[in-house]
Amino acid sequence: MSKLSIRDLDLANKRVLIRVDFNVPLSKDGLTITDDTRIRETLPTIEYALRRKAKVILCSHLGRPKGKPVATMSLRPVVDRLRKLLDDILDEGENVAFAPDCIGEVANEMAAQLESGQTLLLENLRFHPEEEANDPAFAKKLASLCDIYVNDAFGSAHRAHASTEGITHFVKQSAAGLLMERELTYLGKALSQPDKPFVAIIGGAKVSDKIQVIDNLLDIADAIIIGGGMAYTFLNAQGQTTGKSLVETDKIEVARAALDKAKAKGVRFLLPIDHVLADKFAHDAKTQLHEGTHPFHVDLMALDIGPKSIELFKSEISDARTIIWNGPMGVFEMPAFAKGTNAIAYTVAGNNDATTIVGGGDSVAAVKQSGVSDKITHISTGGGASLEFLEGKILPGVAALTDK
Ligand code: AMP
Repeated sequence: MSKLSIRDLDLANKRVLIRVDFNVPLSKDGLTITDDTRIRETLPTIEYALRRKAKVILCSHLGRPKGKPVATMSLRPVVDRLRKLLDDILDEGENVAFAPDCIGEVANEMAAQLESGQTLLLENLRFHPEEEANDPAFAKKLASLCDIYVNDAFGSAHRAHASTEGITHFVKQSAAGLLMERELTYLGKALSQPDKPFVAIIGGAKVSDKIQVIDNLLDIADAIIIGGGMAYTFLNAQGQTTGKSLVETDKIEVARAALDKAKAKGVRFLLPIDHVLADKFAHDAKTQLHEGTHPFHVDLMALDIGPKSIELFKSEISDARTIIWNGPMGVFEMPAFAKGTNAIAYTVAGNNDATTIVGGGDSVAAVKQSGVSDKITHISTGGGASLEFLEGKILPGVAALTDK
């Protein structure tokens, strides 16, 4: 990695401001955390800093409070959870203090009084409109709290906000946290020096969301596998009519261009060759298998890939040495249409010779649902950020970190 990592720095007695992603789901009243995965994911970075006697200051956004304090979007409930999680790993009575505003006198005072090995969590950054506006004066105030800035919020790195980009102009050193470093290492290697064959599996609803990823990967990958709703725009581009399946008619040309590029570049471009058709978008729909290139019945829609497609995709995936997967193969939320996605999850996880990277909320959920997440090399935490990374874009929150 070309950027400074927290592991490159001497943290002892320094005030280290870590931008984390504590954008956790809360109960309606905003009092209870319903899923603490995001807190757990950044624990290694916090633990690392605390063990090296840093004075740790944590900042994050939560929800979309639109630039003003909203009681149900306070980060306060995170304090108890974090204290408990840190207690479990550090075996000391961990003290996590909470500053009711992320800037201002109280935050300044609390940051100044912090001792080595102590933690201070700041209130939701987005209670100030200046955060998303990347306001320099606000960024400077945040920077004044610390000696060193660390960004561990990969999921927010595609946005140039005050806490992800602006702040780096006012601190001497800006480094990647351990989670950020992991993301950049795995995703970066896949794009720049993948072990070959490199197979990308792209699924999900829409071509429009992922066409830039496909376009970028066509320059790098040996094979691209397309499943999910977006496959039907590609099949239409090849001249097949697909009944009521999801098709973006305004993207058929774009899909055709991608197919042409694949041919010109010699990239194997695999589309489903059979389909589970349903008479309605519902878990109790009547279903039938469709195979071949003749038109689908006009009233039916494809909601999953069929068994022959699974076999075709499996053979490509099993030979790969690098695999990136983003997006489900069908409407996997309904058990009747989850077979394709689950089969791909097992196959990706079962390839022990490959570096396997899964990104995007739905494919991550599918991997967890199939119980194979511990067999995946890297599960990316940032949905939008990992997509933009795979598009080949430079993320502002990454670009802003200090070069090694
Ligand atoms: P995305 O957010 O673009 O990754 O899309 C994920 C969504 O695509 C999931 O909610 C799936 O249910 C949906 N999806 C996958 N396959 C299909 C399909 N064949 N038809 C309609 N929706 C689909």
